[in-house]
Parts: sequence; C-alpha cells; structure tokens
Amino acid sequence: MHDELPPRIPPPINDLNRPFWTGGAEGSLFISQCRSCARWTHPPDAVCSHCGGELVPRPVSGRGSVFTFTINRHPFNPVVPVPYVIAIVELEEQAGLRFTTDLVDCDPEEVYIGMPVEVTFEQTGEAWVPLFRPARETSEL
Ligand SMILES: [Zn+2]
Repeated sequence: MHDELPPRIPPPINDLNRPFWTGGAEGSLFISQCRSCARWTHPPDAVCSHCGGELVPRPVSGRGSVFTFTINRHPFNPVVPVPYVIAIVELEEQAGLRFTTDLVDCDPEEVYIGMPVEVTFEQTGEAWVPLFRPARETSEL
C-alpha cells in the first residue's frame, strides 16, 4: 500500500474551471463574475446565464456560511477518515452563490446551519481543492 495517496480525487481541469481549481496556489478562491451585470456564477460557465455577458474569474473573500450539511460516517474512501462533513456553503458575495465542499478543522458535531466559514485549500495534483473551515474571530466585523 502507498502511504501518500491523495485523499481527494483531482478534478478534471479545463480552461473554464482552471482558475477555480488552481487559484488556491495563490491563496485565492476564484469565482466567475459577469463583466456586464456583476453577477457571480458557479460552476464556471462561458457566458452569464443572467444577461449573456462575458464571465471573468475574480478572487472572492473566501468567506461564507453553511447553507446545509450532512455528516458522512461511511468510509467511501479508505484514506479519508470518518466522520467528516459535506456541506453546501453560500459565499458572502451573493445570495444563492453556493457550492458543495467539505468542512475541515472542526468537530462534525459542532457544525450548524449559518455557521461562518472561510476557505482553505488542499492540494491534490494540479488542483487546489477549496475546502472550508470555521471562520476565525478576526474575520467577523
Ligand atoms: Zn451578466
């Protein structure tokens, strides 16, 4: 057995989603924003579904809150310890701007809906997978 198996499967990276998956190398979460109407869109797309404008990847704050979550106790992947939290996080930039991710650095029993979280990254191959952890006090206003 190999000791250093990447715990997460590298996503297929293409030109459209490359900023999203590799922005973590610079510590930033990149989300596509419309040049015309400024709406954020995820997953990345070619044009804005709202107005048809051009989408460009821009760094976001990386802060958000837990929209909903589930605690997984089944070891689907033997190298990922259970339990762990799969969550849908809503980014603070825009209501409804959500994506599915894992919560890390927290006790699964202490996660709650609305919990402030911030992005962190886990490198696997070429990708920097965006994960979320409880937000630090300093990010609160
Ligand atoms: Zn637009």
